[in-house]
Amino acid sequence: MKYSYVSHLSCPKCSIVYSCDEPQHLCEACGSPLLVGYDLSSLKTDWLKEDLTTRAPDLWRYHELLPVQNKAHVVTLGEGMTPLIRLSSLSKEIGIEPLFLKDEGVIPTGAFKARGAAVGVSKAKELGVEEIAMPTNGNAGAAWSLYAARANIKSTIVMPIDAPKITRNECAVSGADLFLVDGLISDAGKIVSQAVKERGIYDVSTLKEPYRIEGKKTMGLEIAEQLNWELPDVLLYPTGGGVGLIGVYKAFKELQALGWLKNDKLPRLVAVQSSGCAPIVEAWKEGRRESSFWENSETVAFGINVPKAIGDFLVLDAVYETEGCAVSVDDSALLQEQKLAAEKEGTFICPEGAACFAAARKLREEDWIKKGESVVVLNTGAGIKYPDTVDLDVPTLGPDESIPASS
Ligand SMILES: *Cc1c(COP(=O)(O)O)cnc(C)c1O
Repeated sequence: MKYSYVSHLSCPKCSIVYSCDEPQHLCEACGSPLLVGYDLSSLKTDWLKEDLTTRAPDLWRYHELLPVQNKAHVVTLGEGMTPLIRLSSLSKEIGIEPLFLKDEGVIPTGAFKARGAAVGVSKAKELGVEEIAMPTNGNAGAAWSLYAARANIKSTIVMPIDAPKITRNECAVSGADLFLVDGLISDAGKIVSQAVKERGIYDVSTLKEPYRIEGKKTMGLEIAEQLNWELPDVLLYPTGGGVGLIGVYKAFKELQALGWLKNDKLPRLVAVQSSGCAPIVEAWKEGRRESSFWENSETVAFGINVPKAIGDFLVLDAVYETEGCAVSVDDSALLQEQKLAAEKEGTFICPEGAACFAAARKLREEDWIKKGESVVVLNTGAGIKYPDTVDLDVPTLGPDESIPASS
């Protein structure tokens, strides 16, 4: 049996096929991101879901459906198989039963970007890449620079000066060539594009290399396996570039093709954004297939501060095809949910994940999520990466004071 059943790259817009044995970024004809294809008909006979039972609890347990062909090229920090936690208190409070949290807060580098980085960096190594470059809002740069360090690949990272200090530190400590730009991620992108063109560096900007989706897709594979191949009715995802949502949708379609799923109907996928940056929601409301640039975007959930996603049409397709929807929530609402999740469930989720709870509440109130439907919320990172989003009053005691009677 082969380690990987990867077969080719293809353009979702004009269907041109490319080889996955050489570096390939966007479609040469139309500039679209490319998708990775697998020999699913061979896999269907060669691979049984029972084969998984003896494998390590990380994302490489699905190596047949990942693009790395030689196991020796796998770069791993043990990422994947994060917990799927049932939330019984929040469930009652929001009125959704059962309600599950897929918790990516426990993954290396503190955010689910580790999945895309592990698979993307491994494939880059397989392709003989020695140097990568990318613009980032923080978490992606942190993950890619750390995995690149492990792979002995040089990295150049450009991030807005306002990106969270912690993610800046993660890049810096990895030994990456790190630059701050007094501007937005789109400005960082322009600087990276120029360096890539002039110096021939391998561009790993969001969706400009096809393998990041494959890493993020494993969240969908895990959710299916953790729910014993019975998918939930609804899945909510905090959407920036939308790579995770595209990936999860791709995972479900591939599992469907393999015949592993008990129910044929896919979950309704919900793209959640902040009302301070909601281009996908705006496009969905108007029934469009592509989004427009969102001017002056602003949100505490920096991972979803993406004014124009290069793969927006793929996100919108996934939402339309699963009869899902796109919802935006205010920062104040998501911060409230962040606190509630910690108080009621003991889980310190990131603001992006909290946005999904705010959206779930709204959709349940509107009866878009029906009573009795099962719901999975994706928490994409650890709350501890965002020290400044929690600002609660804490009383201070002198060394000789005691705790006030009222507490
Ligand atoms: C990047 C990021 C997102 C958005 O992910 P996409 O797949 O690009 O939509 C959400 N949450 C966190 C914490 C992130 O770092």
